[in-house]
Amino acid sequence: MIIILKSGATDDQIEHVIERVEALGLRAHLSRGTFRTVIGVIGDEVKVQAEPLRAIAGVAEVVPVLPPYKLASLEAHPAPSVVDVSGVHIGGGQLALIAGPCAVEDSDRMLAIARRVRASGANILRGGAFKPRTSPYAFQGLGEEGLRILRDAGQAVGMPVVTEVTDPRDVDRVAFHADMLQVGARNMQNFVLLTEVGRTQKPVLLKRGMSATVTDLLMSAEYILSQGNPRVVLCERGVRGFDTVTRNLLDLASVAVVKRLSHLPIIVDPSHATGRPDIIPDCALAGIAVGADGVHVEVHDCPECAKSDGPQALLPDAFDTLADRIRQLAALFGRSVAKAPWANV
Ligand code: PEP
Ligand code: MN
Repeated sequence: MIIILKSGATDDQIEHVIERVEALGLRAHLSRGTFRTVIGVIGDEVKVQAEPLRAIAGVAEVVPVLPPYKLASLEAHPAPSVVDVSGVHIGGGQLALIAGPCAVEDSDRMLAIARRVRASGANILRGGAFKPRTSPYAFQGLGEEGLRILRDAGQAVGMPVVTEVTDPRDVDRVAFHADMLQVGARNMQNFVLLTEVGRTQKPVLLKRGMSATVTDLLMSAEYILSQGNPRVVLCERGVRGFDTVTRNLLDLASVAVVKRLSHLPIIVDPSHATGRPDIIPDCALAGIAVGADGVHVEVHDCPECAKSDGPQALLPDAFDTLADRIRQLAALFGRSVAKAPWANV
């Protein structure tokens, strides 16, 4: 960290800044230039980040050298992390292909969709049991019954399952049924929930909030990592834009940026990002091309009767074509779609 002093800073003020730095157990390196004096702080930057050094008289600016997310940063862990979701490895060249309906609706439908996406090569089954809906009047999910239906469908076809947890009090029961816990966009900064999922050892799919910066996303990941759970997969699912031609704005640059800042895997969700089945396949492929470690796509066998997000669901045939193209594209980059871990029964 570098502390830049105001041009008129007095010797007493400079001395005071040094005292404060040293009181934190860090070393201060004073450097007096012709116009400006700077103090280089040597030691654990996190200790200083919590201190309001900028409030000290005579200080013009405090410039961090390291990012505020320590555990999530590439400096902390230069090799890409690989997250194991009950045998499906995400990261380090292996891609997640997560597919399923927005919401778990009933067991027959869940099983039918699971069979189709599994046959296409999806490796993790998704389905929401607790739905965070914008409207309190919209379908809120089947709750615990939905968890059981999802898990049974996953077991029937040989796939691990991911589902969203919206309430910190539900973390244990969702973790009991699911192989991976999803923290949705609307909860990305629910710090109590992040702390609770961080206390489990379950893999977490952390979606970027719709108005969250990349730094915000990595700081939310840091909450989970700092609780002792290293199994975090990030997800770019579109941020709010001004154009209504797509539901959100798929920020593919953020995927490339995250790859340069963090060791954590990151996948793309073109379903919630665009809301348009006609362009979801192209956007999924673009995500892989830009370096994503997988995709997350909503699939439904009857979009017009879906209880949530029907208009953005891919039909199973369209998903099948997409899965094939993803495998071909991944091979070009020397990557591959991870295999579903269990036999297809
Ligand atoms: C979902 O995955 O169904 C969902 C609600 O996603 P998001 O949190 O990205 O809106
Ligand atoms: Mn959805």
